[in-house]
Amino acid sequence: MGYIRAEVHLLIQSAGTSDPLEIAAQKNILVLYENLGTNIWGYFTNANRIPMIHVNNKLDEVAARFTIAHELGHYALHPKLNTPFLKHNTLLSVDRIERQANLFAMHLLTIGRMPEADATLASFLSQCGIPEEIHKLYR
Ligand SMILES: [Zn+2]
Repeated sequence: MGYIRAEVHLLIQSAGTSDPLEIAAQKNILVLYENLGTNIWGYFTNANRIPMIHVNNKLDEVAARFTIAHELGHYALHPKLNTPFLKHNTLLSVDRIERQANLFAMHLLTIGRMPEADATLASFLSQCGIPEEIHKLYR
């Protein structure tokens, strides 16, 4: 998965920040908070060359930030894919595209951070803002 890590570095370099919301602002990606019901965390669209991240407005701050990081993964890795395809029921889907976006988000949120000496992997990932449901997929 070296190339996903490389894409994370490229995006951070070109945006000048590793904060997902600031990256979106630097890249002119609109972040919209919408009522997406109970199962959809977010999705990415790129209609008429206007990239937009749609985030479920019911998510807590940690899940919303992770969702933005995940959708930035689609922006960086899958910019040409169409909306319906990316409109997933949760971020937990493990199909290839979703797995890549989740890995992108994990790299983005952990980059430059070091675990405390006695931290478990799970507590480190949680500190970085990666929801527990996601950890399980990549152990
Ligand atoms: Zn996705």
